[in-house]
Amino acid sequence: MPDESSESINPTGDVRADTSNPSVALDVYCHECGYNLRGLTGTRCPECGKDSPALANAEPNIPWVHRARLGNLWAFTKTVLFASFRPRKLSQNVFLHIDFCEAKRFRRWVIAVTMFWMIGLTAFLYAIGPNNRLYDREFAELLKLYWPMALGNVLMLPFLLLATGIPSLFFDYRDLPVSLRNNAIALSYYCCAPLAWWPLPVIGGVGLLMSDPMSIENDMIAIPLIIAGALLPLMPIAIWSFSLLRLASRIMSDHQLRIIWMAAGIPLLWLLSVLLVFGLIPMAGFYVWVLIDALS
Ligand SMILES: [Zn+2]
Repeated sequence: MPDESSESINPTGDVRADTSNPSVALDVYCHECGYNLRGLTGTRCPECGKDSPALANAEPNIPWVHRARLGNLWAFTKTVLFASFRPRKLSQNVFLHIDFCEAKRFRRWVIAVTMFWMIGLTAFLYAIGPNNRLYDREFAELLKLYWPMALGNVLMLPFLLLATGIPSLFFDYRDLPVSLRNNAIALSYYCCAPLAWWPLPVIGGVGLLMSDPMSIENDMIAIPLIIAGALLPLMPIAIWSFSLLRLASRIMSDHQLRIIWMAAGIPLLWLLSVLLVFGLIPMAGFYVWVLIDALS
């Protein structure tokens, strides 16, 4: 994990602090072409001619940073939309001064909102379940067992903590400047924003599957419905992964192997944490319960 307290000195932060020497003192890269801007003055990249936010000492354009002015809820909503649908713009901020603590706070907000959705969704399923308004009878039967649902919700918290922390491992390379590493890790926390609206496609997907597409005679309608029902819940995860890769390609464009390793490694570790949290932990708990039951 990065040292967010003492080493959060930013390349541009340095420039801002040291006004007697206006040239960039550290390795800072053009957000358009990746050209190293070290030692340069002015606001334009000499390689591609584009204005560089890193050279211009620009403020990050993440709405969450302006929380005090926008208010918590509005800033959160705007940041979720920004981080979910503007991955390119989000990743440009890696060369600016990113407040690490604010990024961690945003991650906690995303986790809290996701938990709120999960618990709400469970309550909703219970509300419609007993009246047999659910199509799937077996699922409705499953709902009569309270503890698996409650346990699922409880285990969701450690899972979310793990899943949102995993991407930071893939930005922790010694050859990157500490400031850039910290910025990338902070931005990787913003990348988990799609989790905040994750239940929407989940409800959409479950709704499509429960509308019983199998009974539709026309395959031209039934098959796309089934595929959409299965893929919709994966959409926010895909956006999350894409944002992370976009961020990685900004700072590690000359290390293609790392990006490939990241593209394979993050989903793999996510899958492992699903197995660990939702598989091994309940199994271990069950084992202990059986053991205690046998002994007594
Ligand atoms: Zn450039």
